[in-house]
Amino acid sequence: MQAMSVTASLPALRPFQAVRSARWVPRARVVMSVRSSLTISAAPILTKLQRDCATPLSVLRHVADAMATDMRAGLEVDGGSDLKMILSYVDALPTGNEKGLFYALDLGGTNFRVLRVQLGGKDERVIATEFEQVSIPPELMSGTSEELFDFIASGLTQFAQTETGKFHLPQGRTRELGFTFSFPVKQTSIDSGILMNWTKGFSVSGTAGKDVVACLNEAMKRQGLNMRVSALVNDTVGTLAGARYWDDDVMVAIILGTGTNACYVESVNAIPKLQGPNTTIGGKTIVNTEWGAFSNGLPLTEFDREMDAQSINPGEQIFEKTISGMYLGEIVRRVLVRMAEDARLFGDSVPEKLLMPFSLRTPDICAMQQDSSKDFEAVGSILYNVAGVNSNLSTRKTIIDICDTIAKRGGRLAGAGIVGILQKMEEDSQGIVFGKRTVVAMDGGLYEHYPQYRMYLQDAVTELLGDEISKNIIIEHSKDGSGIGAALLAATNSMYEH
Ligand code: ADP
Ligand code: MG
Repeated sequence: MQAMSVTASLPALRPFQAVRSARWVPRARVVMSVRSSLTISAAPILTKLQRDCATPLSVLRHVADAMATDMRAGLEVDGGSDLKMILSYVDALPTGNEKGLFYALDLGGTNFRVLRVQLGGKDERVIATEFEQVSIPPELMSGTSEELFDFIASGLTQFAQTETGKFHLPQGRTRELGFTFSFPVKQTSIDSGILMNWTKGFSVSGTAGKDVVACLNEAMKRQGLNMRVSALVNDTVGTLAGARYWDDDVMVAIILGTGTNACYVESVNAIPKLQGPNTTIGGKTIVNTEWGAFSNGLPLTEFDREMDAQSINPGEQIFEKTISGMYLGEIVRRVLVRMAEDARLFGDSVPEKLLMPFSLRTPDICAMQQDSSKDFEAVGSILYNVAGVNSNLSTRKTIIDICDTIAKRGGRLAGAGIVGILQKMEEDSQGIVFGKRTVVAMDGGLYEHYPQYRMYLQDAVTELLGDEISKNIIIEHSKDGSGIGAALLAATNSMYEH
């Protein structure tokens, strides 16, 4: 199947445009000789960075404990902590019996994906599935709500027109869609929710405070598309549902992509803020933590603080800015600029291209870390492509150390966050996750493609839980679980009998 367009876009440039035009001078900066004669080595800067980013067991433990405490406070009352602890209204997970044709739409950060799946019930399971991916034009990320939703609905309409063969919609039926929307939403039912605020560089006007399902339904109507949203799900919730379809032991789902988030299975009676007539749902529900907003006790550097101050959401999403894909490369870039200025890392001037915010991306730092050649040739060529500079061996080694420091901190803190969630669940109900097989479903481009990050994450979990308990905690990539998961939740919440 031909994708409509699978182009690499750089949405991350968007939020910093205002900053760039205001402050960024597109000229090579000459390193001040007075300063450079004082400090000529990058080593002290690297050492300080490593010290500031250190995540010994005591820091990990503090983060895990604080995560558990913040989760509790957020469940107590809306606004009770950094963590919004949003009710997903998903109180029934897929069983495997789902049947029929269902669609899913995933609006993440970089792309939107459309997917259809033909479900065959317990024995046949997934009969067929097809998807397409479209990159979001950067101008739509700060345009109007109508423009964004019209663009999405038009992509969806084109996709629906190619429905053939194994995909079959019974006569007279409306197509049903699971809408994965990976931004903080105040869910009001399984098929409605108000956007609280944009994150990950989006600043679309006229959506905050509105029901995003209504926005999409209206846009589909404008396109003449006969489809209805039957489930609005966060990507973490979609991932959990998708993974649970295959494995009953899945209790937690984590996204590590452009941004980051986590959800988990919670007991209804552990949610004090859930009151009123909706409390009749039985036993369990899924809570979307919105953990990207966590901020307690994180080891932060001056580079993090400067990046945050210049972002479109200063003071917000601090955990996300420390551990997720949108930001890791940018933190490394800021360290490199400092080393270029204070330690002449690239000679007498600071490379002009390197001064551009977000010019060094997380996939770049990941690729540099994979270079195992003697001369670190790949590092040299990435640096040349990104910053337009030639580098010697010692510079390349320093750069790998910086990348490793930032990836290590990110991975280990993500691991501590996961332990915080498990710890909270275990405290409420002893034996629910520890001492038996428990699966944490992972998805997102950062987790999928960055082996060192993944390893650091696992290390932190093992260090915190010990060998015995961590043997039973399976941290597992659930590829594209969120797309299928949303379609499954559309099936679970279908208006037709199934
Ligand atoms: P989204 O989070 O936008 O829904 P993905 O889950 O596909 O989308 O994650 C994309 C993000 O994953 C990118 O923005 C980037 O930060 C990160 N990423 C993609 N490829 C790599 C890679 N090779 N190495 C490290 N990080 C990557
Ligand atoms: Mg996504």
